[in-house]
Amino acid sequence: MASAQEASNGDGRRRPLGRRVLVFPLPFQGHINPMLQLADVLHSRGLAITVLHTRFNALDPALHPQFTFVAVPDGIPADVAASGSVISIILAMNAAMEEPGPVRDALASVLGEKGKPTAACLFIDANLLAVQKAATALGLPTMVLRSASAACFSCFLAYPMLHQNGYLPPKESQLYTPVKELPPLRVRDLFFSSSSNHEMMRKVLARATEAAMNSKALVINTFDALEPAELDRIRRELDGAVVLAVGPLHKLSTRSTGSSLLREDRSCIEWLDTQPTGSVLLYVSFGSLASMDAAELLEVAWGLANSGQPFLWVVRRDLVRGSDGSELPEGFGLAVEGRSKVIQWAPQQEVLAHPSVGGFWTHNGWNSTLESISEGLPMICRPQFADQMMNTRYVEAAWGVGFELEGELKRNKIEEAVRKLMKDAKGVVARERAQELKKKVESCLESGGSSLLAIDKLIGQILSL
Ligand code: UDP
Repeated sequence: MASAQEASNGDGRRRPLGRRVLVFPLPFQGHINPMLQLADVLHSRGLAITVLHTRFNALDPALHPQFTFVAVPDGIPADVAASGSVISIILAMNAAMEEPGPVRDALASVLGEKGKPTAACLFIDANLLAVQKAATALGLPTMVLRSASAACFSCFLAYPMLHQNGYLPPKESQLYTPVKELPPLRVRDLFFSSSSNHEMMRKVLARATEAAMNSKALVINTFDALEPAELDRIRRELDGAVVLAVGPLHKLSTRSTGSSLLREDRSCIEWLDTQPTGSVLLYVSFGSLASMDAAELLEVAWGLANSGQPFLWVVRRDLVRGSDGSELPEGFGLAVEGRSKVIQWAPQQEVLAHPSVGGFWTHNGWNSTLESISEGLPMICRPQFADQMMNTRYVEAAWGVGFELEGELKRNKIEEAVRKLMKDAKGVVARERAQELKKKVESCLESGGSSLLAIDKLIGQILSL
């Protein structure tokens, strides 16, 4: 077995290892980004990469000439795709891929390709159990990438206990009850959505844990110093399994762009260059899926305007539910002239790293949370669903790098929150803590740092297959 060290030429460049890794991301932005970042890291260490991707949210091979791409029929009915419901899309994909058929055929033909390095394994998103089954049937080992936090996966593992102990399904009267088995979480922070079918959610989470248990390694986009207790808990529960914290992957990957499904408006970087340095500007973005109604958009617009702070705001075309294009109120442009910019999609990692940016109003998707921490930025948190509530809780109660803007979105509350983050003592403390976390990120990425060691271990594991 070649070790990870043997893969190096000694001059920092890597020689080909003669093996190939297949990757199959779940086709959503927050899952595609870390999977392609991981693929990029593996590629830079000498492994060839084949990306399997779906028609739904298809990737653009031209943006990644270093990888081979294979389109796989996803079986998602048009009405389910149009619904935008993540859970329904996951279930539809799995249902279509469960049977012997297109996915197994696609995998078999990739494995049979002549002139390519031998495939060592397939990396799947944890939500793609059906793909894992197809790979297993062909004798191809799998590894699982979790694109959310260790706390989130630990919560998945605890789901049966959470039901047994009466925390779930959630009761309105218990939302603020601490979950003493999973501190610092409260019932409202657990992974559930008030609008989703609870049984369906339970099934999806159980399938994700099954995929992780069947795999040769569980790789999580987090780092040891950020979630030590949560990683320990997972390692204890998955007794004997290889659990590797390799994040933040966007900091290890050489390509920060290239996996965006929407066109990035790079004019915002030029605009940021014209703004004063010294962390004065607020970046506002709610990720790729979170949405609001038209009245909330108005409140956000006037809250930001009335705060007097400079800001860069991402207003996706589909940010407002039920409308094609998100209309800003009359008079808004004039009110914020010279100190704001509104765009439809940002090169977010570059924005967060810009010296003029000093805070992030976020929905707390895990990638956004980790990207903010990596740049030492404090956060205003406005979670909506899935793991976002849990990430918010960690930001506020475990790491002290931000606070939640809770309840109805109202302009005066928004104005107050922006001032608190950007000007008040609470914001200063959160910024200091965020800077401390940034140092921990830097340590885990240094030579001998925990995430680099985890990547070495992963490469060794891949080469042993
Ligand atoms: N993102 C981006 N431009 C934007 C907003 C988001 O590139 O204007 C990226 C962001 O950097 C992150 C991903 O989209 O990597 C969103 O993932 P996250 O887990 O934060 O949230 P989700 O979209 O899955 O809810």
